[in-house]
Amino acid sequence: DQNTFQAIISHCKEYGFVFQSSEIYDGLSAVYDYGQYGAELKKNIKDYWWKSMTQLHENIVGIDAAIFMHPTTWKASGHVDNFSDPMIDNKDSNKRYRVDHLIEGYADTLEAADKTALLDQMELLLKENDLPGLKTLIEEKKIKCGVSGTVNWTDVRQFNLMFSTQLGSVTDEASEIYLRPETAQGIFVNFLNVQKTGRMKVPFGIAQIGKAFRNEIVARQFIFRMREFEQMEMQFFIRPGTQKEWYEKWKEERMQWHLSLGVDPAKYHFKDHVKLAHYADAAVDIEFEFPFGFKEVEGIHSRTDFDLKQHQEHSRKKIQYFDTEINQNYVPYVIETSIGLDRMFLLTICNAYAEEDLSTPEKADSRVVLKLPAKLAPIKLAIFPLTKKDGLPEIARELMDSCKSAFYCFYEEKDAIGRRYRRQDAIGTPFCVTIDHQTKEDGTVTIRHRDSMEQERVPMSTIKQLVLDKIS
Ligand code: ATP
Repeated sequence: DQNTFQAIISHCKEYGFVFQSSEIYDGLSAVYDYGQYGAELKKNIKDYWWKSMTQLHENIVGIDAAIFMHPTTWKASGHVDNFSDPMIDNKDSNKRYRVDHLIEGYADTLEAADKTALLDQMELLLKENDLPGLKTLIEEKKIKCGVSGTVNWTDVRQFNLMFSTQLGSVTDEASEIYLRPETAQGIFVNFLNVQKTGRMKVPFGIAQIGKAFRNEIVARQFIFRMREFEQMEMQFFIRPGTQKEWYEKWKEERMQWHLSLGVDPAKYHFKDHVKLAHYADAAVDIEFEFPFGFKEVEGIHSRTDFDLKQHQEHSRKKIQYFDTEINQNYVPYVIETSIGLDRMFLLTICNAYAEEDLSTPEKADSRVVLKLPAKLAPIKLAIFPLTKKDGLPEIARELMDSCKSAFYCFYEEKDAIGRRYRRQDAIGTPFCVTIDHQTKEDGTVTIRHRDSMEQERVPMSTIKQLVLDKIS
């Protein structure tokens, strides 16, 4: 619910995960910075995706293309002409809305059958780009978005989501370039470079992680919809005619990736696209149940040979593959998997966040804990000497030195042990180790497990391997 979501947003700020960009200047709308723990968590999610896509697939390689691309790229891809959302303004309140969000929001208040009919009507109008029709639909349904009486709407306009800027100081038209709105095109234009230099054989994939920029009309829900964000995309090049089978395979494989992080499967579902993008012959979203409802986190798209053909036509360079198995030249088809890194971050935090009541008959108590998968946690091991004296810090430092090159450790000697544990719970550290006087006698330490809060006594010499086993 919204209260939980607000608590999660506050938690992200209070514990150094996510800050509003340029906060001292009152922030910049829908732009965010990752703090000390957020940057680690984000990097761990990135690494987990990268490794499972490239290292674990012998036929997928990764690249890192530039954000700036030749302007013709976006003409070829269809973004200049089609990458827009319909928007409408309320002239009285000066509030701006995305028409599809407005209608979808209103549809949520309807009975199932009416809701489907309304959304179908909207999809049709969107498909036909019938802007006056969309406005009439809003007016007919009295979709007032909290305003009573008649609303003084503007006409519906198509709003292109690409940011543009000038390359160099020459102000002729050709120097206008865009910040990429998706990473995919950097892969398509490098198809031949990678295929040839890597001696890749179809079917094979190219993966990439990088920034993308969209001038979203309405930015909502924290880092769910941002204007600057990161995507993790993979384009899988296949023989024409095999797209159905590869589409199903990637759907399945990507869902398994999500489930491998230990999320309750009931929190995920597939949602087929009703309205297909201009390049797709099939498309599905993987949706997760965020505190504000089921929403898209990843898309799997069967893109046909649309992109490579478009680039072939606009660049006038042949982009083809010679398949030695069937002795044929063709433009490969593409299955794409596209996931938002920031959305995956939000998903991970939402799924991990728990407020627990630990009250006993004697004492009221509670804690906030992030039950992150150990492999994603920013800090893997916190090391605490029980006191600041008696040689305990020295022993703790020894453990720190033997572990810190293998995984991220955190050392702290201030405050009561209980308070130190709670601070680590709040940032999701799976293990805490306490060095006490007994350690000096028999070399054992107490290891405390985050989720169960159980403590066990084990030899200090086993700690490193114990943590390594849990994070690999
Ligand atoms: P939406 O319908 O929510 O606008 P989309 O269908 O346009 O998203 P895609 O173009 O398929 O999204 O992008 C692939 C992925 O990139 C999405 O599944 C999402 O995780 C992520 N993404 C897209 N737009 C944003 C954004 N503004 N902020 C953060 N992540 C985004």
